[in-house]
Amino acid sequence: MEFEIVIGLEIHAQLKTKSKIFCGCSTEFGAAPNTHTCQICLGMPGVLPVLNKKVVEFAIKMGLATDSTINTFNQFARKNYFYPDLPKGYQTSQFDLPIVEFGKVEIEVNGGKKLIGITRMHMEEDAGKLIHDDLEPESYVDLNRTGTPLLEIVSEPDMRSPEEAYAYLKKLHAILRYLDICDGNMQEGSFRCDANISLRPVGQKELGTRTELKNMNSFKNVQAALEYEVRRQRDILLDGGKVVQETLLWDADKNRTESMRGKEEAHDYRYFPCPDLIPIVIEEEWIEEIRKTLPELPDARKERFIQEYQLPEYDAALLTGSRELADFFEAAVKSGGRAKKVSNWIMTEMMRELKGADITECLVKPEQLGALLKMVEDGSISGKIAKTVFLEMMTSGEDPQRVVKEKNLLQVSDQGELLSIVREIIAANPGQAEDFKNGKTKLMGYFVGQLMQKTRGKANPKIANELFAKELAG
Ligand code: ADP
Ligand code: MG
Ligand code: ZN
Repeated sequence: MEFEIVIGLEIHAQLKTKSKIFCGCSTEFGAAPNTHTCQICLGMPGVLPVLNKKVVEFAIKMGLATDSTINTFNQFARKNYFYPDLPKGYQTSQFDLPIVEFGKVEIEVNGGKKLIGITRMHMEEDAGKLIHDDLEPESYVDLNRTGTPLLEIVSEPDMRSPEEAYAYLKKLHAILRYLDICDGNMQEGSFRCDANISLRPVGQKELGTRTELKNMNSFKNVQAALEYEVRRQRDILLDGGKVVQETLLWDADKNRTESMRGKEEAHDYRYFPCPDLIPIVIEEEWIEEIRKTLPELPDARKERFIQEYQLPEYDAALLTGSRELADFFEAAVKSGGRAKKVSNWIMTEMMRELKGADITECLVKPEQLGALLKMVEDGSISGKIAKTVFLEMMTSGEDPQRVVKEKNLLQVSDQGELLSIVREIIAANPGQAEDFKNGKTKLMGYFVGQLMQKTRGKANPKIANELFAKELAG
């Protein structure tokens, strides 16, 4: 029996505001436990929340960037549940009146483009963090994160493979970062994803029973967890069994999912409109003002890269996948690198040396890469030497001009200087010289190789070829 995979994702993006959603406490990551807290985010009785306007602005931004409807009348609701990291006993979220609905983003998998629907986006507050000690019997609670603003982005069940889920996640991540409203750090939990997945026999209309996967802190983990879950559910269904609707945790070490709890339903939460916060009414004028501040988004930038720099689609997609990478590319081109060359260097040499680290951690600045490639272009150094210079730059952050000078790597293009070495080589290889004259022109490589060895790779290959051709002809 053939099955169709159905996936829908819920993303929690931490919004990059300075202060929390309902109080003035700092949202900064990494402070000493419980130092960024006040009566409001600790949920003391009798306190009143005040909505941070930036949170609304950021939610509208994301809505506009994804072609969504902005609900000019929306409202906060209380989602009631008990957990030690939630001092109020409820999470202030949105329920039937979210701020954003009906959006879409385009993804591309294996060259095919596809639209993925966004059901809704709503604003809510984050909970605190429990810290469990493996050795001691106690647990600790850190409430610094309590009240940090989140944008929950819920997709339609439109994805049909783990690859599509991966592409959708990457696209949303890129848009959030382009808008500069979320730092996107998955390790620190600023961008989290829960994946819902089910299978159904090909041709069946109704959706199958889904499971919800949590605890995936990297893009790779999301894809791996989904792939695992496809196999697990398929095995159950092929055995004639039934998939149980539940929440599963992905264990990246063991490479498998584990049951966490039965799935709760919306009615379990006893949602009701938050009496402490009046409904939010957004004026069209404000939306239009925000629309004007939207930057060029990944899809538009990709198209421009193809047009303006004549880059292949593959390069353009990869480079515009992150705003910083795209900025790096453009700055390097501006400082003298040829577009396709810069792209190749970023995608091969640089990515390899970065070993998965972020481009923002790269010691080589775009201007330096541009300058290095310009030196290759104008013949100051060979492409091969450039790679040596680049490795040095990646560890020291030095300017290419300086590395070339310090290591004495400038390409020798001086005819006189090269000519004497060329003559030496010919004199030392009379047999090969004779063969060359008799038509074995393939020996050119041998001669040029000798010259490169003697000059430690610094001879200008074009001039070397010309000199040998002339000398061996004579
Ligand atoms: P909940 O709020 O209980 O998590 P929702 O109905 O809001 O449930 O759906 C959450 C996510 O699960 C959405 O992204 C939705 O597209 C997806 N989803 C819902 N039903 C299925 C299903 N049968 N298979 C796969 N994904 C599903
Ligand atoms: Mg859910
Ligand atoms: Zn506070």
